[in-house]
Amino acid sequence: MSCLFCKIIEGKIPSTSVFQDDLGYAFADIHPQAPVHVLIVPREHISSLSETDDRKNALLGHLLLAAAEIARTKGLGKGYRIVVNTGEEGGQTVDHLHLHLLGGRQLTWPPG
Ligand code: AMP
Ligand code: ZN
Repeated sequence: MSCLFCKIIEGKIPSTSVFQDDLGYAFADIHPQAPVHVLIVPREHISSLSETDDRKNALLGHLLLAAAEIARTKGLGKGYRIVVNTGEEGGQTVDHLHLHLLGGRQLTWPPG
């Protein structure tokens, strides 16, 4: 398996761990776009959000709630953004499903 995030989950590539449990792993983004920029990934390899279906309801809910919990622990009470870039036009560059948690500054809209 040549997937970058699978290697990070397995500890074969170093990362700064933020949170982990039996279903997910969260770590600091290597090129942070905000003072807080965390990636939340399922331990299971899923290539993108478009490759999910009803069977992943519980896992996807779990990851979203993990993101909200990380936001609380990071003190993002004033707000934050969760982003799931999906596919080529969505700007996805790593083909392992991941949630970006961004916060700690005023975020603008629309995104680029
Ligand atoms: P995306 O463009 O949505 O697929 O997001 C991929 C993210 O992975 C980018 O924000 C990258 O900065 C981040 N990234 C790439 N390599 C690493 C790494 N080795 N450790 C942490 N984050 C990484
Ligand atoms: Zn993977």
